[in-house]
Amino acid sequence: MAIVIAALSASAQPFLHEQPVSDGTDRRVYSTIQTHIGDSYANTWNVGSAKKLTGKIYVLEIWLTRPGSAWNSNDMGFVQSKINHALDWLQRMAARYSVAVEFVKGSYHGNGGGIAVDNLPQSYSDCANQPLLLPRALKVIGYDDAIQCYNRIKEISGIDNILVLILINNDGWSNANQFSTLHATNHFRDYFLESVNLFLTDDGMPTNGQTIAHEMLHLFGAWDMYGGQASDAAGEWANKNYPNEIMLQVSSQLDDLTISPLTAWLVGLTSEYHDWYWNFVREEYKQY
Ligand SMILES: [Zn+2]
Repeated sequence: MAIVIAALSASAQPFLHEQPVSDGTDRRVYSTIQTHIGDSYANTWNVGSAKKLTGKIYVLEIWLTRPGSAWNSNDMGFVQSKINHALDWLQRMAARYSVAVEFVKGSYHGNGGGIAVDNLPQSYSDCANQPLLLPRALKVIGYDDAIQCYNRIKEISGIDNILVLILINNDGWSNANQFSTLHATNHFRDYFLESVNLFLTDDGMPTNGQTIAHEMLHLFGAWDMYGGQASDAAGEWANKNYPNEIMLQVSSQLDDLTISPLTAWLVGLTSEYHDWYWNFVREEYKQY
């Protein structure tokens, strides 16, 4: 199995730490990202299975449900429409940078009612406590692990830029599982395939396109820009300067939201670098 990983590294990941730094004028961000890539803040493009928001992107949907239950077809259609809206929006954002994006979708939904797994998460903390939900789901649909699934999709589709949407037939709090180098040394095989856990309802509200797009952008490398994740000062600055940035807020409708230069840079749409990006790196990681 080590041979599979080596082949993958050679073809798809020539340099795990490759980053979208334009001309190297600000080495602080570059070295911080390199040093702390194990943190979610340092997960940027070209890391893991969802590499950049460019070109052909494979989206694998896995519809999960509790044993003895099934997805209601109306619910499934509703969530599907929100996913499609998010994908359209991401395409439009990329087009603003003259980058063409094409999504190719695959779907596992059992006989239409979803695939039953034990201990289906019912909250954000369930997801945090069940980091192996994706490999568990992959086993149910016939894959040994995430790497095997990744390689198989790549072989069949010819696409090496792959993400998974896990659709959970419960209420919860949607979240992203992005790959980091921490995972490279610890459970590499389980985490390489990057995924979003998307619940039928999000904290009691119908799931929405802006949340889906926000979580997917994390897989391509985007950082949260709101106070609490970024510093409060950075969050306030973003509120003033990029109030409609999707990594800052998802309370507006998707079509009213946009991406700032920072998000565009992090997901590989542009090499344009601004010094203010540095303000969104967490204080504890500003070591250089
Ligand atoms: Zn976020």
